Amino acid sequence: MSSLAANVPKYSLIIPIYNEQETISEMYRRVSAVMDRLDGETELVLINDGSRDKSLSMLRELHQRDKRVCYLSFARNFGHQIAVTAGLNFVRGQVIIILDADLQDPPELIPDMLEKWRQGYQVVYAQRTKRRKESWFKRFMAFSFYRLLKSLADVDIPTDTGDFCLMDRSVVDLLNQMPERNRYIRGLRSWVGFQQTAIHFERDPRFAGEVKYTFRKSLSLAINSLVSFSRVPLRIASYVGLISAAFSIVMACLVLYWRLVEPNSPVTGFATIAIAVFFIGSVQLICIGILGEYIGRIYEEVKGRPLYTLAEVGGFDR
Ligand code: UDP
Ligand code: MG
Repeated sequence: MSSLAANVPKYSLIIPIYNEQETISEMYRRVSAVMDRLDGETELVLINDGSRDKSLSMLRELHQRDKRVCYLSFARNFGHQIAVTAGLNFVRGQVIIILDADLQDPPELIPDMLEKWRQGYQVVYAQRTKRRKESWFKRFMAFSFYRLLKSLADVDIPTDTGDFCLMDRSVVDLLNQMPERNRYIRGLRSWVGFQQTAIHFERDPRFAGEVKYTFRKSLSLAINSLVSFSRVPLRIASYVGLISAAFSIVMACLVLYWRLVEPNSPVTGFATIAIAVFFIGSVQLICIGILGEYIGRIYEEVKGRPLYTLAEVGGFDR
């Protein structure tokens, strides 16, 4: 269509794809309509995150039809954050926009985001004012999680923002230099600083297909983000240890008192010991678990394996 691969694009759009055969055609229709209206060369980078449906062949076909479409295909499922990371590694544009395949992030907002970029902002993130047709459980979990993260994290991560954002090349270059494996892109994006601003939108329901972020994936992303951006849990472990130490001194005094002064008291004996053992045991296990989260991450980092394995690449001249 409009551009040749040899031209360096000005705008790059990144969309991760995991079993999205129901949404790809409509996504392409709406995204390419927006691309047609932009004032420069645009590339659309689609990352197939190990889909098991027809997604990959649909991406190949789109690339055949429209040379603005490039794609990367992972050798297996590596997860959304890694798919976006791969996209960031490959894009060539001056301005980079990340969005979801399911049209929950309306591509029609892109011109508004670009307007902010022209005003001098390096990061424009989309902030949800409303989530349409998502279960109360998901909304409640998301609401509490974003507030917990905000209160614990070392950097100011805005609430209710997803990965839908625009970033300037300077920011993307910095993200690409970060070697860390547990990539919470929203956090890293806030961490770099620069001029950042929000635009507000109401999040539509998924266009078609199932949610690809299972509860387990969402939980693991949430734990990742907390551990990557906060050391408060480690400190909580120490505090809980101190509190339970204080508690055990009180217990020791009480037990002595019962033994020496009131030997017939009904609270002495097996129950007291059992409760104390369970209590201390669980405090210790929780603290070891918290330590484990951090140590596990150190282990992941030092192994230094590549972030993803590519099985197929289409449309990049490199
Ligand atoms: N996705 C992915 N790999 C995964 C899970 C999801 O690339 O392992 C993609 C998915 O295709 C979609 C985006 O990430 O483009 C967001 O997924 P989804 O809409 O299921 O999650 P939501 O954030 O809406 O709950
Ligand atoms: Mg979605």
